[in-house]
Amino acid sequence: TAKENGRKQFIIYADEFGENVNEKFELTNNLYDALNKEQFLLNYQPQVDLHSGKIVGVEALIRWQHPTKGMISPAKFIPLAEETGLINPLGLWILRRACLDRKQWLDAGIQDIRVAVNISIKQFQQDNFVETVLDILEETGLDPTYLELEITEGIAMNKHQDVIKKLTLLKEKLIYVSIDDFGTGYSSLSYLKELPINQLKVDQSFVQGICDGNYQILQSIITLAQAMQLNVVAEGVETKEQAEMLKEFKCSIAQGYLYYKPMPAEDLLAVLNPYNLTC
Ligand code: C2E
Ligand code: MG
Ligand code: MG
Ligand code: MG
Repeated sequence: TAKENGRKQFIIYADEFGENVNEKFELTNNLYDALNKEQFLLNYQPQVDLHSGKIVGVEALIRWQHPTKGMISPAKFIPLAEETGLINPLGLWILRRACLDRKQWLDAGIQDIRVAVNISIKQFQQDNFVETVLDILEETGLDPTYLELEITEGIAMNKHQDVIKKLTLLKEKLIYVSIDDFGTGYSSLSYLKELPINQLKVDQSFVQGICDGNYQILQSIITLAQAMQLNVVAEGVETKEQAEMLKEFKCSIAQGYLYYKPMPAEDLLAVLNPYNLTC
């Protein structure tokens, strides 16, 4: 079988597509048109300060509105986009859209909130990645302090010198950087400590079980973050009990269905507006 031949790609996507190579082939072909046909959209999920309850940021999450298959999860098509190289134009589209939306909320009077954009490894490894980000900020007129980039441990730990160089440039421009899904990769702590980053986002798998006694890893990550003077966001917070535990552990920010689900840009504006009025 393909697995025994060690064909890596097959193994990586086996979870999503199983033996259904045809579906994968079809989606990959559709993906090429999807950008031109404007089938992508961004949803936004607010992040909340656990103590004040205020929204401190929003994460942009891409959706593919497929003409016949309905909404397709990014977990399914982002890997295909990476494999085919389409992630580069798609990644540009995502960054531009997120910056334009954030600019619009700013014009509507909404301050103090960053928009976080997920960056894929292929995108980050482009030689001109930082330049591209700065170009988009300039073109959209968004102040860099409103932008946050989420990179995974896999990105952060690869090609160390190149990563440090890029992150240092981003930091100089005051662009905020988070490590996404923290705890699921293979971070070397000595590497991590050299990275000019701002925040760790603890993967939801470490949040889910905390009320059943599986809180040790989460607690360790929070302690680690404090020692490194990094902010911590807990992902996938679904219950009040989890939120209470997180507060006890001195986690500062939470994101999850307990507070808000990802929503279209128009709905977000309505959610953000009352905050703006009370400030
Ligand atoms: P992620 O960046 O870790 O995003 C968080 C995921 O958790 C999102 O799934 C979000 O909808 C989901 N989530 C949020 N709160 C909860 C909760 O309380 N419970 C549970 N069970 N899930 C929750 P989504 O939108 O399906 O995205 C999946 C992944 O796809 C993302 O994980 C990210 O790695 C990738 N992705 C999404 N949008 C983009 C994008 O614009 N660019 C790139 N490169 N990757 C993206
Ligand atoms: Mg993310
Ligand atoms: Mg995550
Ligand atoms: Mg994730």
